[in-house]
Amino acid sequence: MHCPFCGTQSTRVIDSRLAAEGDQVRRRRQCNHCQERFTTYETANLKMPMVLKAKKIRESFSDHKLRDGMLRALEKRPVNAETVETAIIGIKKKILSHNTHEVHSKWIGECVMDSLRVLDDVAYIRFASVYHRFNDIGEFIDVIKVMEQSSPT
Ligand SMILES: [Zn+2]
Repeated sequence: MHCPFCGTQSTRVIDSRLAAEGDQVRRRRQCNHCQERFTTYETANLKMPMVLKAKKIRESFSDHKLRDGMLRALEKRPVNAETVETAIIGIKKKILSHNTHEVHSKWIGECVMDSLRVLDDVAYIRFASVYHRFNDIGEFIDVIKVMEQSSPT
């Protein structure tokens, strides 16, 4: 693997460990030339179903969009990158377990909300408010009420 700092081809693995509950391998590498360190991530390349959007438009599943949506909701929240990656892999597994050729984008949104709800209340509310496009403050308050009732005391 080339060094991203100086471009030399000579780098070595100095540490390797399982992450994301065993679904990811993280390797710490060091360049033999400039001695810079960097991390690589290895995950199974999963064949995801197509995403069915409104008006019957289909598009390829995008890891990038999923991560982007979650990170936007989690901005400045105390949730670390590794936890987010684990959650993303969890969502993908959930989608794959459906074993269909296509999934509705709406359902993916629900999966993301389920996941965020466990990770961080504020992120959940942020995502839900964009996702549901609440029509009025009443709907918004309803969601908060449901959360309060179901949160552990
Ligand atoms: Zn280097």
